[in-house]
Amino acid sequence: MLKVAHTICPSCSVGCGVNLIIKDQEAVGTYPYKRHPINEGKNCKKGRDSYQILNENRLRDPLLKKGGLEQVSWEDALETTVSQLKSHKNHEIGIIASGNCTNEEYETLKKFAATLGVENIGYNAKNIPAFNFETATLDDVENSDFILIIGDVLKENPLLGRRVILAKEGGAEIITADFPDKTLTGINSDEYMQIESISAFLDNINRKVLETPEQSSTVIISGLSGEEFENVLKFFQDSHAKLLPVMEECNSRGAMNILPALNENELKDLLKKVKLLYVVGDDPASYMEESLKNIEFLITQNFFINETVLMSDVVLPGSCWAEKSGSFTNTTGETQKFNQIMLPPENARDDVTILMELAEKMGLEL
Ligand code: SF4
Repeated sequence: MLKVAHTICPSCSVGCGVNLIIKDQEAVGTYPYKRHPINEGKNCKKGRDSYQILNENRLRDPLLKKGGLEQVSWEDALETTVSQLKSHKNHEIGIIASGNCTNEEYETLKKFAATLGVENIGYNAKNIPAFNFETATLDDVENSDFILIIGDVLKENPLLGRRVILAKEGGAEIITADFPDKTLTGINSDEYMQIESISAFLDNINRKVLETPEQSSTVIISGLSGEEFENVLKFFQDSHAKLLPVMEECNSRGAMNILPALNENELKDLLKKVKLLYVVGDDPASYMEESLKNIEFLITQNFFINETVLMSDVVLPGSCWAEKSGSFTNTTGETQKFNQIMLPPENARDDVTILMELAEKMGLEL
């Protein structure tokens, strides 16, 4: 039987609505959700293909390393996890998450760590430092008189790019800027600035354009990280323009609101300090495998097989977004709830439930 159910696209941080088509408990496609205010029925290719995430490389059973990884019962996997957590001191335990988990998972992880007395916790911020100011909304983008775009938003975040095109059609002046090794897609801007270095680029920006009070201006910052990101923020923060930093993952902004943001060096430091690492939704083996060498015991909670899963001592199979209820906060700071549409495959479980069960077995009250 075919079922069509509304959810939020997990494939980038814009937070578009999408309808999933489910046939006999299997996701087989997507269908535009016409009334969603962010994307008004349009989805990009990544969004239209988002149903495929539910079917690829799924973890279906708890696994324990016994030579190789072997399928075990939930009881065995949780008991091993509990005994390892109990046999390590608080400062020897680290917990890291990705920007793809739900807000409810971050809240539960935060409580779990606090109740256990674990301070080495955070999410992989992909080098975007935490910020705390009101960002431009998508309507602000569309209603701007002037937009400066740093990075290729039409390629990476097409439904944000669509708002820029609508602004242009309404008469807005658009300046695009990017590094020479990157190519800009599709936005017919009034001016293109090639970025050799961020400081030279900022020296060349005509601040007058951004400070003219009768203009509503927006600066979209995409594809920058670390110091470059901070310098651009600092430069524009005292201007008249509204700022919109574009996050990489669907709930990086939610993670930033709840957990400490860890940049690459901070992640490395955390991995050096701890002996037991609990990874939720992330894949540190794919970007800092060397740093994982010091870890004596590795626990991964995830819904699909990645490099970190293959190195783990315990694997706890979690759920993909459409198999659970929760919320994501998009790049403009809007939190959107979504409901469970289908069941997780075989023995995989809801992620908050896994954490609550662990806490209960540890004797912790969250
Ligand atoms: S722009 Fe982003 S959120 Fe929207 S459909 Fe495309 S991938 Fe999904």
